[in-house]
Amino acid sequence: MDYLSTRDKTLALSAAEAIKMGLSRDGGLFTPARFPSISPLELEVMCEMSYQQRCAYVMGLFLDDFTPEEVSDFALRAYGPEKFDDPAVAPLRRVGGKTWCLELWHGPTSAFKDMALQMLPQLLSASLKKTGEDKTACILVATSGDTGKAAMEGFADVPQTKILVFYPENGVSQIQKLQMVTQEGANVGVCAVRGNFDDAQNGVKRVFSDPAIREELAGRGFFLSSANSINWGRILPQIVYYISAYCDLLREGEVRLGEPVNYCVPTGNFGNILACYYARKMGLPVGKLICASNRNDVLTEFIRTGVYDRNRPFHTTMSPSMDILISSNLERLLFDLSGGDDALVRSYMEQLQKTGRYEVGGELLAKLQGLFYGGCCGEEDTSATIAALWQDGYLVDTHTAVAAKVLADYRRETGDERPAVFASTASPYKFCDSVLAAIGEEPVSDSVDRIAQLQEVSGVPAPSRLAALKGKAPRFDGVADREEMEQVVLDFLK
Ligand SMILES: *Cc1c(COP(=O)(O)O)cnc(C)c1O
Repeated sequence: MDYLSTRDKTLALSAAEAIKMGLSRDGGLFTPARFPSISPLELEVMCEMSYQQRCAYVMGLFLDDFTPEEVSDFALRAYGPEKFDDPAVAPLRRVGGKTWCLELWHGPTSAFKDMALQMLPQLLSASLKKTGEDKTACILVATSGDTGKAAMEGFADVPQTKILVFYPENGVSQIQKLQMVTQEGANVGVCAVRGNFDDAQNGVKRVFSDPAIREELAGRGFFLSSANSINWGRILPQIVYYISAYCDLLREGEVRLGEPVNYCVPTGNFGNILACYYARKMGLPVGKLICASNRNDVLTEFIRTGVYDRNRPFHTTMSPSMDILISSNLERLLFDLSGGDDALVRSYMEQLQKTGRYEVGGELLAKLQGLFYGGCCGEEDTSATIAALWQDGYLVDTHTAVAAKVLADYRRETGDERPAVFASTASPYKFCDSVLAAIGEEPVSDSVDRIAQLQEVSGVPAPSRLAALKGKAPRFDGVADREEMEQVVLDFLK
């Protein structure tokens, strides 16, 4: 199957090439030229499958340059019991009559990024072999917390890869920092940057676009690659759990085959909800796609008015993984909704680059609004939602609370009471401070001790790897100025 750039359809690559390259040279994102469909019969057959089998089945439809055995093997390795602490991998949990929560955080780093980042390294590694690449891929990551750790955990000791993560020195939580600096693996590196997330991100972009560094590294046998959600290898594994959730509802007799289910997704870079849109496009009976944002409501405005405008204040919130003003994967949606109009997409992205704003209208806007609902949730409502769900015996993190609140708003506003699933993207133990405060507890002073504190007051077991952080010795203590990032990369790839 061909993969096309959203900014130039004449560029067509195989899956392996698209995954290896990550981003197209024209700045566009690789997107399948056509989407395979899933029939009602196939959904019924999948009901009887394990998560790993469902994954191999769905991903196999897109990866025709890989053998079925290869794809099965990837799924078994990515989602095995040594990685995921729930045999269902992405279990559904009922929270009220016709509402379920899809828990996506049972992987090694307790955030939903694991669902994709346990798979991407396998895809990349196999893609290097398939394309005859003899250089080692060096994954550079700038992270605001979750992605860096999940990427290292996925790439640790994967042959023919190295991974270097930059994080803002004072821009991640203590737990996130400890998770990163204690990472094991011979091919990993971590460095703090004196600055904020944008400084780290800009530094990484600078390294990527520096031809001199690229040439120097090529001479040493390396090429640079990305584990960001712009890589198709991160979107594809995410399609699986939306289909899997529907199969679970079907198997339990909660929905009839073909009955639509609404999905609500807490959104930042638009990767997760895009995967749900793709599942719908393949034939999954998805009703409304509900896009939940925190105070950074650029997507809510876009869906309601067609105006995408990043010229607005940036809010730091208790759901930091959604503190984003440029949702990169929206580009893939625009490409699809416009029927693959690469010139149109190019023009929107140029306007975004130049003025920080673009506007869609007409048929495109009508399509967008027919499919999606956009809503946002402020800080107080986030806390109140955590408290309310906890009253009913379910402990959620801050990002998940945003989704639960926006789903409730959607139902109230529209009267659409169809069955609904909202995605839970992180364990509450990743955001102990805000969760403790929301349920009325004063957090103790040491941030790692708050894990034990939350466990004690809630009675909900903490993920074992987070609990094991207590007393773990850091392996990395590097801190660099922004201008030193190039040198850090060159030193890392000696
Ligand atoms: C990354 C992340 C999100 C946002 O997902 P996108 O795919 O970027 O929209 C939401 N919640 C958590 C906990 C995350 O780590």
